[in-house]
Amino acid sequence: MKRILVIEDEPQMRLGLRDNLELEGYEVETAVDGDEGLQKAGSFAPDLVILDVMLPKKNGFDVCRDLRARAISTPIVMLTARSAETDKVLGLELGADDYVTKPFSITELLARVRAVLRRTGSGTPKPTADVIQIGDIEIDFKLHQARRGKIRIEFTAREFDLLRYFVQHTGQVVTREQILNEVWGYEEFPTTRTIDNFVAKLRQKIERSPHAPEHILTIHGSGYKFVG
Ligand code: CA
Repeated sequence: MKRILVIEDEPQMRLGLRDNLELEGYEVETAVDGDEGLQKAGSFAPDLVILDVMLPKKNGFDVCRDLRARAISTPIVMLTARSAETDKVLGLELGADDYVTKPFSITELLARVRAVLRRTGSGTPKPTADVIQIGDIEIDFKLHQARRGKIRIEFTAREFDLLRYFVQHTGQVVTREQILNEVWGYEEFPTTRTIDNFVAKLRQKIERSPHAPEHILTIHGSGYKFVG
């Protein structure tokens, strides 16, 4: 049974989410603020965190950052209320995996949760080796960690999935459509520009010179090709 932690201060929203998620067969734990959320992210060991942005004391952005700073790579779906918040989540510099804007339908939220869990879950095909070397970077797909020498490189869960997909298709040209279908899934509708943005982020993290990539190559008119 997949475990979901809901961090939300509004009682009605918190209980509503809990009931609906439990009806879907998830095991649910809730937290009313950021501190309790951080504590339960450790003790409850959720498979996914639903995190509201508007929280008392520490806001959702800070909680998200703190989780990642503690090397907790559990996927996070953020609940946002304003377009400015959405823009911030879309920047994805916080380490969130997805977001839903309030007011949302429970159907929509459940679809996002399923998609994120599927993308990050055990059903994801794994590369042949857990640890691979790309240039001067060592990537451990099992531990979701990457480092260049002693310096740790942080990835969001989705960046990691995309990187894993590239590695699994080393030497092959993959189209943006293939990436959309296989990394994002059919329940979501990102644009091909989203893919390009993620590729740009990955290049910044793994390429020595992001503007002259040696590993994630653009194949004009087709898509991308990863070379190790
Ligand atoms: Ca709230």
